[in-house]
Amino acid sequence: MNTGRSPRIYLSPPDMSDQERTLLLAAFDSNWIAPLGPQVDGFERDLAKRVGVHDAAALNSGTAALHLALILLEVGAGDEVWTSTLTFAATANAIRYVGATPVFIDSERESWNMDPALLHEALREASTRGALPKALIVVDLYGQCANYDAILEACREYGVPVVEDAAEALGATYRGKAAGSFGTIGVLSFNGNKIITTSGGGALVSDDADLVARARHLASQAKQPVAHYEHEEVGYNYRLSNLLAAVGRGQLARLDGFVERRREINRTYRAALEGIDGVSFLPEAPGGHSTCWLTCVLLDELHLGVGPAQVREHLETHNIEARPVWKPMHLQPVYQDRRVVGGAVAEDLFRRGLCLPSGSVLSHEDQQRVIDAFLQTPQLRSAEE
Ligand SMILES: *Cc1c(COP(=O)(O)O)cnc(C)c1O
Repeated sequence: MNTGRSPRIYLSPPDMSDQERTLLLAAFDSNWIAPLGPQVDGFERDLAKRVGVHDAAALNSGTAALHLALILLEVGAGDEVWTSTLTFAATANAIRYVGATPVFIDSERESWNMDPALLHEALREASTRGALPKALIVVDLYGQCANYDAILEACREYGVPVVEDAAEALGATYRGKAAGSFGTIGVLSFNGNKIITTSGGGALVSDDADLVARARHLASQAKQPVAHYEHEEVGYNYRLSNLLAAVGRGQLARLDGFVERRREINRTYRAALEGIDGVSFLPEAPGGHSTCWLTCVLLDELHLGVGPAQVREHLETHNIEARPVWKPMHLQPVYQDRRVVGGAVAEDLFRRGLCLPSGSVLSHEDQQRVIDAFLQTPQLRSAEE
């Protein structure tokens, strides 16, 4: 069987329309090519409105937003910043950019996000030592908000400011509030695989207008507003280009449709695979509305006969991209000597987890191709008694 010729199905490719193309070309024709311009201002207004916060700074990546967030919270060398161990490396790397020490917290089973009970207990213990973290970065994984009722209560009790890494969760809500709005500062990403993309880009959002204004200042080389290039502090070149902001505005206007489509893809995978012994899905936790940015499954080799590696490799022979769940930070060579609170849940999710193609451009036929290929994995036991 030669299946190698079928067009490749990607995990989460961009979804562009004429709307973005028109906006991009209009920005181009206006000659606002250089960083900043009316589309950047407009994109920032659109983002703040969508997230339900006072203001937003459009930046050239989510990683840049994380870095600036920690600077704005005055995190520096000698400080600890706690974060989820199950995340993409960018979250932890930003902690190192400011010279601080990351401490990793395990996941809960309910949402795969940070375990609020573990966090609370660790904060209590740290406060008795007088060693509370300077900040906490909570990650909203795979399109779903963390349990903010419990997490924010614990952080209020100990006076720890929260950065919400909502890079994977734009469009999600928790108790009716939008992802990105839960921390003192929220971080968004418009990287190529995210639910909306500007090819590369990100944003820092906050209800605190002064913080956002300072983020813009730091992101523009910290130039003082005078003619002669005056600098009072170290700045960065982190602003988003006007051309890309135009694409972002077109994408943001289509966000609800993207969420709907990704949730539909999730329902279709569930209908096809959920009944199989040894297959379970990333749950949608109570109180939240996930974007289902990626549909993730856990595969139990004992029951299924195969694990995520075999399924992934088989999908690859059908020219289908699937990826393992994030490898926890405390297992990464670069971070393995750092402190971790718990860790067994994230390790288990990594060992058994697989992310399936979930892009909003995925056609019904292509999703069926994924499901068929999944079920045809050699040695997979799908027979229902
Ligand atoms: C994608 C991502 C980032 C980084 O965003 P970039 O725009 O790629 O820099 C940060 N955190 C998480 C959880 C992400 O998934």
